[in-house]
Amino acid sequence: PSFVEDEEGGIVLMSNNLSSSSSSSFGYANIEKQRQRLPVYKYRTEILYLVENHATTIIVGETGSGKTTQIPQYLKEAGWAEGGRVIACTQPRRLAVQSVSKRVADEMGVNLGDEVGYTIRFEDHTTSGVTSVKFLTDGVLIREMMEDPLLTKYSVIMVDEAHERSISTDILLGLLKKIQRRRPELRLIISSATIEAKAMFNFFNTSKKRQAPEGSTQGPKLEPAILSVEGRGFSVKIHYVEEPVSDYIRSVVSTILLINEREPPGDVLVFLTGQDDIETAIKLLAEEAHSHQKNSSGLLPLPLYSGLSRAEQELIFTPTPRGKRKVILSTNIAETSLTLEGVVYVIDSGFSKQKFYNPISDIESLVVAPISKASARQRSGRAGRVRPGKCYRLYTEDYFLKQMPGEGIPEMQRSNLVSTVIQLKALGIDNILGFDWPSPPSPQAMIRALEVLYSLQILDDDAKLTSPTGFQVAELPLDPMISKMILASSELGCSDEIITIAAVLSIQSVWVIARGVQKEQDEAKLRFAAAEGDHITFLNVYKGFLESKKSSQWCYKNFLNYQSMKKVVEIRDQLKRIARRLGITLKSCEGDIDAVRKAVTAGFFANACRLEPHSNGVFKTIRGSEEVYIHPSSVLFRVNPKWVVYQSIVSTERQYMRNVVTINPSWLTEAAPHFYQNRQNNMSL
Ligand code: ADP
Ligand code: MG
Repeated sequence: PSFVEDEEGGIVLMSNNLSSSSSSSFGYANIEKQRQRLPVYKYRTEILYLVENHATTIIVGETGSGKTTQIPQYLKEAGWAEGGRVIACTQPRRLAVQSVSKRVADEMGVNLGDEVGYTIRFEDHTTSGVTSVKFLTDGVLIREMMEDPLLTKYSVIMVDEAHERSISTDILLGLLKKIQRRRPELRLIISSATIEAKAMFNFFNTSKKRQAPEGSTQGPKLEPAILSVEGRGFSVKIHYVEEPVSDYIRSVVSTILLINEREPPGDVLVFLTGQDDIETAIKLLAEEAHSHQKNSSGLLPLPLYSGLSRAEQELIFTPTPRGKRKVILSTNIAETSLTLEGVVYVIDSGFSKQKFYNPISDIESLVVAPISKASARQRSGRAGRVRPGKCYRLYTEDYFLKQMPGEGIPEMQRSNLVSTVIQLKALGIDNILGFDWPSPPSPQAMIRALEVLYSLQILDDDAKLTSPTGFQVAELPLDPMISKMILASSELGCSDEIITIAAVLSIQSVWVIARGVQKEQDEAKLRFAAAEGDHITFLNVYKGFLESKKSSQWCYKNFLNYQSMKKVVEIRDQLKRIARRLGITLKSCEGDIDAVRKAVTAGFFANACRLEPHSNGVFKTIRGSEEVYIHPSSVLFRVNPKWVVYQSIVSTERQYMRNVVTINPSWLTEAAPHFYQNRQNNMSL
């Protein structure tokens, strides 16, 4: 693509209070010196003062200023972890939790898992009584409230990346506000990369409504404090494409080659939408470089997305070898959650994967959608870490100015609320519509969720969790539909198989993303394919993997992702333990595939679809009569059986069902009589 510079000749991000020469020696300074150079260091005393004196402190600062890695350490140094208390720092993303906790452990010179630890779903690296600085996802902290509703072991909870407004962050903020009322000694820090401080201030400002308890003058102020940490980004010159691009992956690749040809050394950070995009771009880059003899010498492409192995994660952070240029192809995670030193060039595709939910059709889908201006600015800012940089936006300036939305919509307002409702119910919050949300979800979405939960027999007539099903589902750290499927499998005598399926459904995909070898991959899939659909196919894949003695070679031959398969084994072990805790003993149905499909139906009946007669693969959802298709990655693609249930929907130009299994429609009424009774007419074969 050809680029134009923006009119103003680039945007200046923040004042630059470091000379550029000092940044070149950054890597050699000892850790203490490095820590002192971070922008937050100048605010250390002020931060500690504010936390001491205010119930809530809101801290805004440019990415890389040291919020996440430094503030928990300051708190520890100031004594907030004394007496067995713990300092928590939450992140929306699992990978960020792992990466940041490792960095903090290194800086403190301790082993990760001792004084500094982390917990994410299916992975706990903390030691009770020893870990005093704990990083965790906001989802995990919400789960901890089920055991300890007031989170009594924590002295300070830092809710980081609050600007992202992930659904778990929003739930957590609402719950913490409640907890604060009961535990005035608890301190909250809300930190974020962008200035949305006003809304957070209003949300946490209870000083007007609530008087400090009589006679207690020493308690913290109820009015939140706001602190803005001055960043130290360098200026970033923005380039826009002259004409809209039709294939952003191809444009990314040619822009990488262009930078390599024309620009002085410096790493490149590319924002794409997901693992599929990223792997496609890496393959294409290799092909282009090869076939056109383009100058790709010294390019070191590295993927960055959740689900990377630890070794792959470490590569991202190791210094770029001399004469090389790292090209990090990343999802949104590098937008604000992780800081990558050495990046000088940013390529912004203008897209990210986003969840959308339509309460009318009751379809939640993952869509590649345009980002907001706020995101675009964050992305370009990543180019100005070490010296003035450049950002190549693969969209026109006109589009940026006139069409790009200003801010993203909080995830809470574009999600299916089934999990949210269960979590709140499990925490004893009955009036969910009246809950104090940072941004309330739509009542329709709430009603839809209640309806599904009632049909799943998770909620009773009074909208209370049922016993034991409701409580068991709440205890499982899984999508409620998967949990329900596991519980049903216990009665159907196929828990062994269903737990394998649940593990596979919990990861992105077991298949590698192959481009140009579609035929070979399809053939490989056929070796495992079951006529009943993907879920049964996964059982064959898992069996094959075990028989191969978990061989990476075997995975390679069969176009299976070895890392994903290892994850499946790991998650399966965890699920086995959780199931045992719930009193489910693993039992195999010994090939009774109907039992397995019935269990899947018991969980996913709300996602049932029927093939339109005489149509070319058009399905209609039973619930909303929405038009959907089987995803090309499914073994049922082109097979088009009459009745199916799916796990999830991805939308491109059409709505595609992922992970599809054939069912017998009579199972739907068995599994959820209430849900399907009034749709009987619809159900005739
Ligand atoms: P913020 O949370 O304000 O975005 P961080 O605390 O994450 O900032 O990062 C502060 C600094 O710590 C970064 O500038 C970077 O130099 C360093 N850093 C953070 N994580 C790592 C890591 N995994 N490896 C090396 N350096 C890191
Ligand atoms: Mg951070």
